[in-house]
Amino acid sequence: MTRPAIAAIGMASWDRMLVVDDYPEAGSYAVVRQMLEGPGGTTANTVAALARLGVPVTFAAKVGDDREGAALRDGLAAEGCDVSAVTTRAGEPTDLGIIIISGSGERAERTIYWQQGARLRYGDPLPIAELFAHDLVVVDVDDARLRQLIVDLPIHVAPRTRLLGTLTLLTELPPEQALALAVRHDYLCGNERELRYVTGETNLERALVRLRERMLLDQLRLAFISRGPLGCLVVTEEAAEAVPAFPVAAVDTTGAGDAFAAGVALGLIERRAPGEIGRLANALGALAVRGLGARASLPQRAELDALLGRS
Ligand code: ADP
Repeated sequence: MTRPAIAAIGMASWDRMLVVDDYPEAGSYAVVRQMLEGPGGTTANTVAALARLGVPVTFAAKVGDDREGAALRDGLAAEGCDVSAVTTRAGEPTDLGIIIISGSGERAERTIYWQQGARLRYGDPLPIAELFAHDLVVVDVDDARLRQLIVDLPIHVAPRTRLLGTLTLLTELPPEQALALAVRHDYLCGNERELRYVTGETNLERALVRLRERMLLDQLRLAFISRGPLGCLVVTEEAAEAVPAFPVAAVDTTGAGDAFAAGVALGLIERRAPGEIGRLANALGALAVRGLGARASLPQRAELDALLGRS
């Protein structure tokens, strides 16, 4: 029997979005052009992108005991995702992102105000054996003790299971601790700003050197660092290879990094070459920024393959 492909452990949030032309100066104002809301959250967006592409995916997360939590879970189930490990935390609201979207094209930006709600934490029961029966486990957890427990698991319970860690939530931790956790995953993905934070380096070149030094000593073997319209860097012990982005008219960059992570996960389970995984991740990132909201423009497989020039 073949093993199921991908499990993801992480977060689901509800997104409320305001669209403005430009960010106002502090103390000034901006006219709101549009307001909308919908399902979001880093890991949930990645899971939704994979499900949309037809990849079987199992998700473990916490939602609040409210309308948004139910909508998040039902939405992912409707996309075809296994949500049996998405559980409700009584007495807490669903995690909420208030997202201010400004500009378009090259100037497209988004800024998030994060009202923290129900999230997985150390001590929450998780179906570990079931999750680690997948080939690849995406780990996107902000609780440091839970993250430590998860990165220590494969050697004990599932030596064949590979971990893909995201950098995003590690920036909640002090840099030294964040880097020590980051290099315990087999693969990493995140953006340039997050890499600079966890390495404690303001300069990208030095941040890459620091990461590659750690690759020699630790579990990490491959990292995918996104750079918005510049594409991404594929980092191995030997080198950092730049892979250009796909040109696209960006409307809203919310969820670009989450779609990028889905592309990395897909490329890894399909056992593609590192540069090809970077290209696939860039393609998903580009497709994700075409519409308002994190998930509106996520593609189906045929559309992704068409952009990649595959039939
Ligand atoms: P994050 O959402 O974490 O800030 P990025 O902005 O780096 O992540 O976006 C992730 C990926 O999405 C990029 O590596 C790139 O491939 C793609 N992407 C993002 N913005 C654009 C853009 N304006 N044009 C083309 N591709 C983009």
